[in-house]
Amino acid sequence: MLPTEHSSGAGPAPMGRSRGPSLRVKLLTAVAIACAVVLVLTGAAMGVLLSSITQAVRMEARNLAGSVALGAVEAGAQAQAYVQSLDDLYRRDLFIVNRERRTIADVVPEELGQIYREDPGGEVEQTMADGQPRTFIEVSAQHPSGAKQMVVPLRQTALRNSPIIGAVVLEYTNIERQLFMANVWALYVVGLAGLAAVVGLGYFGCRVAGRLSRGIGQVREGVLAFAQGDTSVRIAPLDPDEVGDLTHAFNKMADDLAQSRRALQQEAEMARQATRHAEFLAYTDLLTGLANRTQLSNLITQALEQAEQSGRGVGVLFMDLDRFKNINDTLGHEAGDAVLREIAQRLRQCLARHKHIARLGGDEFVVVVPGVEACAGLGAVARKILTAVAQPMQVFGQELRMTCSIGISLFPRDGREEHALMKNADIALYRAKDEGRNGYAFYSPELNPHSVEKLALESELRRAHEQGQLRLHYQPKVDARSGRILGVEALVRWAHPTMGWVAPARFIPVAEETGLIVSLGRWVLEEACRQQVAWVAAGLPRIVMAVNLSMRQFGDPALLDDVRAILAATGIAPDCLELEITESLLMRNGAAGTTQLHELKQLGLRLAVDDFGTGYSSLASLKRFPIDTLKIDRAFVRDLDGNEEDQTLTQAIITMGKSLGLHIVAEGVETAAQCEFLRQRDCDEIQGFFFSKAVPADELATLLRASGEGRSPWQRRGESTGGAPV
Ligand code: C2E
Ligand code: MG
Ligand code: MG
Repeated sequence: MLPTEHSSGAGPAPMGRSRGPSLRVKLLTAVAIACAVVLVLTGAAMGVLLSSITQAVRMEARNLAGSVALGAVEAGAQAQAYVQSLDDLYRRDLFIVNRERRTIADVVPEELGQIYREDPGGEVEQTMADGQPRTFIEVSAQHPSGAKQMVVPLRQTALRNSPIIGAVVLEYTNIERQLFMANVWALYVVGLAGLAAVVGLGYFGCRVAGRLSRGIGQVREGVLAFAQGDTSVRIAPLDPDEVGDLTHAFNKMADDLAQSRRALQQEAEMARQATRHAEFLAYTDLLTGLANRTQLSNLITQALEQAEQSGRGVGVLFMDLDRFKNINDTLGHEAGDAVLREIAQRLRQCLARHKHIARLGGDEFVVVVPGVEACAGLGAVARKILTAVAQPMQVFGQELRMTCSIGISLFPRDGREEHALMKNADIALYRAKDEGRNGYAFYSPELNPHSVEKLALESELRRAHEQGQLRLHYQPKVDARSGRILGVEALVRWAHPTMGWVAPARFIPVAEETGLIVSLGRWVLEEACRQQVAWVAAGLPRIVMAVNLSMRQFGDPALLDDVRAILAATGIAPDCLELEITESLLMRNGAAGTTQLHELKQLGLRLAVDDFGTGYSSLASLKRFPIDTLKIDRAFVRDLDGNEEDQTLTQAIITMGKSLGLHIVAEGVETAAQCEFLRQRDCDEIQGFFFSKAVPADELATLLRASGEGRSPWQRRGESTGGAPV
């Protein structure tokens, strides 16, 4: 509310026009003028009244003096007695002089015979000369304060033109007083009326002027403040008149405006919030609140632009938690998320503000360090991160100790653009992992292109593994005689988002080399067992699930425990699980390997020698191992059609294997002729494209269903080729 106390003269003149006197001054001036006019009119009225009284007094005095003169002429010698009687009767103070101005009659007898000289202008002499009545003021010993005298001529007779013989002098002060007293009320009335008018006019004029100017001033200030953007301004309520209406209207208008302004602001604020939220979603990793991949890209671009200008370096630290997958697998995804949030929090705490932190997804974080002077600084940052991550953490009541590995690339040395810097930091990361984890490594250009590609592939593979891009396909193994499916081999497939299906021959060796195969293989085993149980549960035939074991897996001391745990977790019948180990691997592992095979065998599983024939081991040496199945390498099968040597070898392997009580499987069978040859040589099972390539679980289920109904899923094909199993 604007203050009610208000000077209308205050405040800036709008639009810079020069200002005249204020409204208040103008109004007060008008009031003052009106008061002055009333005063002047009152004064004039009183003046007229006074002068008419004076006029009447003079007239009265002259008439009185004239009649005294007539009376005195009539009285003649008795003039003194006549004057005396007048005094007695009417208390008139008068005297009569002759032409010599000697007093011939007087109310004061002592004065008789005296020469009268108290008229200051010789008025008595003049009146006797011209016969005109006159007034004067006598100031004498008798009348020290002055007495008003009227002098009229005294004629010889009553006739108007008779000669003047003297003069009658009448004091009319009394008459004047009496007449004045008789008329004084009129004077009072006029005076008081005038005064009242002035007071009223002044009082109400000032009030009205004050109110008007104050009200208009307030409205003016309100409007000015409003014009300058202060929408909160309101005017204190004034009296209910036109100005009051104006303030009401102003306040209402201000309320409406403020309300619509608020609504507009709210809308704008909501729009801003929505934009902010959309930006937040677009640029933020929702789990950790760190920058996401998109934002990281922006941050790197910015840092590189600044670095180009400042001539300094930019460090890219690619960080990955060691064995994070174990946390997800054993404690669940919620625990995994909690770990990631905790790590993000630690990164925020241990890194200074100007370093940017992002999470790419999974357990991968990237730190961008702008303004780098030397590599040493980046090493220090990496060590800080390692220390922060290594502190024990509580997750769902459990104490966890995490480590991480960090790969570092530096602009401009290791690349001038985002993609190269990220790729090289990633390669360095895998070097850090290779060097035993919980450490950091700088990218070095000496890494040869092959190992670079390998490292890149491995990093992608790890990601694929964690993001579930790996799938299992199943290739049927068919009874050579009946054509029914007796088992399947689980073969891993990589559904790469851009490269499509990546063959295991490309990535298994890499996974093998980097050790990733251990966790990958564990997943394959578990997934395959789960699938087998699912098929059985779906009422499909009970078949044997074959899973390949790689060298690293076979050498892993935890293998036995893992297999045992998976058997328990999935509930697969142990004799429905077959582990395939390549011939070369079998021969290379010596006594320790043999023991491990025996231990595995004791779990009740089946064991198969894969790719047999390539390791040049004697069949006799197989006797040492608790083996159930022999898989003839497809190199032999491939050339069966024309190569007699291979035919003989294959024949020998089958015969001798059978003599050792082994189940014989031929892999890589592609033609009806190969199939027929193997069947005739008493091979037990056949696996190959002739029947089916490895297919997804649901396709395999269809094949299994046909097989379970007692017919070979490939009967039609068998009929058309004539040589296929029935
Ligand atoms: P392997 O264990 O000898 O598996 C058989 C391979 O031969 C498979 O190749 C299969 O697709 C292929 N094959 C089957 N029938 C035919 C045929 O008629 N003609 C031809 N030309 N090839 C046929 P894949 O799937 O590319 O696997 C290659 C190797 O990768 C496997 O050889 C195995 O050693 C390894 N591997 C595949 N999956 C896994 C796995 O989950 N774990 C491990 N450790 N190794 C795996
Ligand atoms: Mg195999
Ligand atoms: Mg094989």
